[in-house]
Amino acid sequence: MAEAYNPQNIFAKILRGEIPCKKVHETAHSLAFHDINPLSPVHVLVIPRGAYVGFDDFSAKASAEEIADYVKAIGDTARKLGVDASGYRLLSNCGADANQEVPHLHVHIFGGRPLGRMLKKDTD
Ligand code: AMP
Repeated sequence: MAEAYNPQNIFAKILRGEIPCKKVHETAHSLAFHDINPLSPVHVLVIPRGAYVGFDDFSAKASAEEIADYVKAIGDTARKLGVDASGYRLLSNCGADANQEVPHLHVHIFGGRPLGRMLKKDTD
């Protein structure tokens, strides 16, 4: 089970307008903005406006409207960024084993260069 939502997390502060972000796309239920520490030429985060820690929390508690809005916002953002032609990667870290740093659901959109294989094997 996901940890309780902490309204002091940095993305909650962005949503409340307490700290700035470089906005890419926004909808009724979702917001996309540039990652502050980009790991690829295109590195954008898409978050739901609602208070959800991770994907399992979101799928358990969000409305069908929020879920549809969020999925659409992720694809629309990828197109807006122009990475749909060359390709891109979606990644969402959820919980301790995934090293989730910010406990508000976010999907990373990486693109703008070849991204290599998705994950190292344990034996690498
Ligand atoms: P994760 O490890 O998946 O939780 O990643 C959190 C991401 O949030 C990292 O890529 C950070 O660079 C990014 N991040 C942290 N603070 C900010 C911020 N104020 N604005 C934009 N991105 C941020």
